[in-house]
Amino acid sequence: MRILIIEDEKRLSDALIEILAEQKYMADAVYNGKDGLEYAKSGIYDCIILDVMLPQMNGFDVICSLRESGVATPVLMLTAREAVSDKVKGLDLGADDYMTKPFSPEELLARIRVISRRQGELILDKMCFGDIVFTISTSELSCVSGGKSIRLNFKESELIRLFISRPGIIFSKEELITKVWGYDSDAGDNNVEAYISFLRKKLHFVGSKCEIIALKKLGYRLEGENAFKA
Ligand code: CA
Repeated sequence: MRILIIEDEKRLSDALIEILAEQKYMADAVYNGKDGLEYAKSGIYDCIILDVMLPQMNGFDVICSLRESGVATPVLMLTAREAVSDKVKGLDLGADDYMTKPFSPEELLARIRVISRRQGELILDKMCFGDIVFTISTSELSCVSGGKSIRLNFKESELIRLFISRPGIIFSKEELITKVWGYDSDAGDNNVEAYISFLRKKLHFVGSKCEIIALKKLGYRLEGENAFKA
């Protein structure tokens, strides 16, 4: 899960990153509305936390532009304002939920879970594909038939989650870099190749019949017996 934080109060933004990191959510932070809109339009985020009072472009204009350009990423609006009219305005413009500062970390996380679920992406602890099961909380990859399991490191976990969440989808190296290493990362093709190779070895180790197939010039796809094949 990757979250974009658009919030100009650096201290709050840093606190949010910390809260999210504890839940193993990756977060990118930007500090004004204009940058926020640009990042949000990339479509790589599962959820956006958006402040209302922002320099350069306010949160209402950001959500409005975002929805106009067809980006449906769930948005949680954040503001110091208590006015009911502000809440209504935010929701009318396409926000999914609204939170008034100050708030507790528990409430923030609960709301993120709810709006991400609404998007149709259930945050479950176990993800299954073919003969493999990946447990998010323990980063454990196991094979239903083999009985073996192995712990994945952070990048491997992000990769397998991406593959399992979009069965049959081919991911280009560029896409994998953006989604796993991050928007601003300077990771290259060799990083992707290395981690795909680690992951293949671990799939083999647990005795899975699932394979990460490389499609020339296109990218990678996870394939498995009794699972999607095209
Ligand atoms: Ca603000």
